[in-house]
Amino acid sequence: MCGIVGFTGKVSAKDKIIKGLTVLEYRGYDSVGIAGHYSRDIAICKTKGRVETLRGKLDENEYPDVTTAIGHTRWATHGGPSDNNAHPHKTDCLALVHNGIIENYRELKNELGLPEESYLSQTDTEVAAKVISDEYSRLGDPIKAIYAATKRIEGSYAFEVIFKDIEDCIFAIRKDSPLILGLGTDGGYIASDMTALLPFTNTLCFLEEGIIAKVTPEKTVLVDSDSKESEPKWEKTTMTATAAEKGGYDYFMMKEIMEQPEVLNKTIQPRLTETDIKLDEISLTEEEIRNCGRIHIVAC
Ligand code: GLU
Repeated sequence: MCGIVGFTGKVSAKDKIIKGLTVLEYRGYDSVGIAGHYSRDIAICKTKGRVETLRGKLDENEYPDVTTAIGHTRWATHGGPSDNNAHPHKTDCLALVHNGIIENYRELKNELGLPEESYLSQTDTEVAAKVISDEYSRLGDPIKAIYAATKRIEGSYAFEVIFKDIEDCIFAIRKDSPLILGLGTDGGYIASDMTALLPFTNTLCFLEEGIIAKVTPEKTVLVDSDSKESEPKWEKTTMTATAAEKGGYDYFMMKEIMEQPEVLNKTIQPRLTETDIKLDEISLTEEEIRNCGRIHIVAC
């Protein structure tokens, strides 16, 4: 699973994205990149390697002081680690970061019928970017375009998208990959993991599947597929950034091993009553459970 961070506000986004990506980096990644609105275009900087390499490249290229940006740390699934395969992926009208796998990317590529040279990477993600672009040029509306594209896209995704002609705005949608919205005093945040938001805000909202979040410096709006808008249900978390980091252990692996009793307790406790085990969310009848021959426990 990769890491995604986005920020739009009235202050510089660059350091926030770098900070967020650094927090996410502990799991180990192979490439990293950033895209931001700049001078009626989108400025991209990406590289194979770690966040530190990106930081150097940003300085070297004098990357502009953007106030709206999306960033990504990649764990390659389609196409090896390289500068070109690093996210964000840019088309003529947008830039996009993606966490997940587009299962039908070959079929979509055939459907689009674009010349092979128009693809700058070997990733499934670039195909998704082109599908959203295709819908945007047809429908002229970012929300409609994203919904139309996600109808065509099969697989898992957390997308953050910025459109060249819609400044100060990040659009996001997810399926089977997490995205969390953050409400800051200086702007709107969105990331794939709470730890990347905690250095900036503890007012969070877990984005539901299949709902678009439109994040602007002033506010975040949720837009459903019937274009109905609603406000996110913000919640304050008591989790601190340090709690989310190594927690006093030398290694993350040690921390994760030592946390197992607590994590299991937190998972099991809400499902226990004095006399019973409650597994309502599984929604199986007693008879269905009795008929199960084997149970697979799959976790991530
Ligand atoms: N499938 C995409 C790629 O290979 C995204 C991988 C990820 O989640 O980091 O670029």
